[in-house]
Amino acid sequence: MKDQKIIIITAPSGSGKSTLTKLLMAAFPQLAFSISACTRSPRAGETDGVDYHFISVPAFEKAIAAREFIEWEMVYEGKYYGTLKTELNRIWDRRQVPLVDIDVKGALNVQQQYPGHHLSVFIQAPSLSILKERLEKRGTETAETLAERIGKAEYELSFAQEFDHIVVNDDLARASEQLIGIVGDYLNN
Ligand code: 5GP
Repeated sequence: MKDQKIIIITAPSGSGKSTLTKLLMAAFPQLAFSISACTRSPRAGETDGVDYHFISVPAFEKAIAAREFIEWEMVYEGKYYGTLKTELNRIWDRRQVPLVDIDVKGALNVQQQYPGHHLSVFIQAPSLSILKERLEKRGTETAETLAERIGKAEYELSFAQEFDHIVVNDDLARASEQLIGIVGDYLNN
């Protein structure tokens, strides 16, 4: 545990977090994406075992009972998401640093579990209206799930100060440069 590090990236949905996370992974080969388990269906272009381990609700609940998760949340109504212990260990065993991309509650939970071993970054959209626009453009939500994601984002914004750094994703090039700088400092120290 002594030298183990963990990078936590959190953000309300629609803040551009996945794009920034991909740029970060490309910049640092020592980072490895921690593949969460979840019970939502894959979106177009998503692959099981790459983006998520897409599993059924009964399989997820069995894994909860078997204490296989570092943390788990019902992030949206009926949809479970969780960070698997095996996933973090697999990455540490390869001498890499796990990058976990999780919701705000999960991120607060992981921070508490790894005091002194984490770097946490909150990615913030410039405004709630821009966030709504981005989610609409992505076209993956129904009116109902869009409203749920916006409501959750509003709530999550109030926790931004709990994290080590806040990166406002107003401009992708600027935000990625800032994020790469923050993560580079952490990995090199
Ligand atoms: P999406 O459905 O858009 O892929 O993800 C929805 C939210 O769930 C995002 O905020 C994402 O970061 C979060 N999430 C993904 N994996 C996990 C996880 O393992 N644990 C928790 N708590 N949240 C997660």
